[in-house]
Amino acid sequence: MLTLEEVKSLLSTQKKIVITTHYHPDGDAMGSTLGLWHYLKSKGHDAVVITPTDYPDYYKWMPGDAEVKIYTQNKPACRELVAQAEIIFCLDFNSMSRLQEFGKHTEASSAKKILIDHHLEPERFPDFMHWRTEASSTSELIVEFIDLLGDKSMISKESADCLYAGILTDTGSFQHSIYSPNVFHIVADLVERGADAKKVYDKIYNSYTPDRLTFFGFCLTERMKLFSELRCSVMSISLADQEKYHIELGDTEGLVNYPLKMKGFIFSALIIDRKEVRKISLRSKGDVDVNRFLREHFNGGGHKNAAGANTNMSLEETTEKLINLLPQYTNQLNQQQ
Ligand code: 5GP
Ligand code: MN
Repeated sequence: MLTLEEVKSLLSTQKKIVITTHYHPDGDAMGSTLGLWHYLKSKGHDAVVITPTDYPDYYKWMPGDAEVKIYTQNKPACRELVAQAEIIFCLDFNSMSRLQEFGKHTEASSAKKILIDHHLEPERFPDFMHWRTEASSTSELIVEFIDLLGDKSMISKESADCLYAGILTDTGSFQHSIYSPNVFHIVADLVERGADAKKVYDKIYNSYTPDRLTFFGFCLTERMKLFSELRCSVMSISLADQEKYHIELGDTEGLVNYPLKMKGFIFSALIIDRKEVRKISLRSKGDVDVNRFLREHFNGGGHKNAAGANTNMSLEETTEKLINLLPQYTNQLNQQQ
């Protein structure tokens, strides 16, 4: 393991740096990688952001987005960048499997690997870690990391917009994942540095297509199964449902949160057919641990109140398996206020 002083000294001379994040990047993945990228560029490094797969259009407004390389769209160039890299920053994930195919190139690279992340149970690949599960987001940890390097004053307006977006999205607009007042201090500081809170919110959340909003309405009226005794909701969305509303990458994000708007409901499951795999997204409130649930039953993971998994089972089999598991958790689900 490297010490912070060794990391500082590594970064004190120009380096070839790759910054990467998990596949299907979300707001925190894009906000933290681009937030860090602006900082490393301004330090004079030869830095590039590589995402394992594409990401939704509503994150493509972030300053620096045009420079992002998407592995699946340019494999040889991305492989070359990873092979040449001296440092690889791994942000917002802690298991190489979260990089899909791009992971094997990252793993094989001799570059020093620096992990900055807030997910549970990290693997042991990094040479340095700035890791805290009580952080709201990886973007919050990027601010801390830059501060640890003594460079907080180098956070630009561009970087601040990206980092603010990461914190905003990973806290569900400051609803959850807030474990200390620190996150509000950091957000205030980002706004002072020029982050435009109103613009960032609009770009991400007030940018639905009519199809997307209509699809949400359809899912809530036709696909939401309520298990009121268990305080659970399960939604299962087929490929045909998505085709009907021309659903594209990122259009289903946020849907899983809606059932938790009902008083008393503390567990929400969304199962979506994504052609190659079925994606499970779980959200919960309080002590209901969906990270453990998905680790135990579907080889997934994430956080206590927000976790995900992928499975090769059919949509029907996945939904049935999940619903049949719920009664085992009756006590846990009923203990909660
Ligand atoms: P989402 O449901 O929004 O895709 O993911 C919720 C949380 O679970 C995120 O923090 C994400 O990083 C994590 N997550 C999503 N899918 C997977 C998965 O397949 N494996 C693991 N380990 N974590 C996941
Ligand atoms: Mn995150």
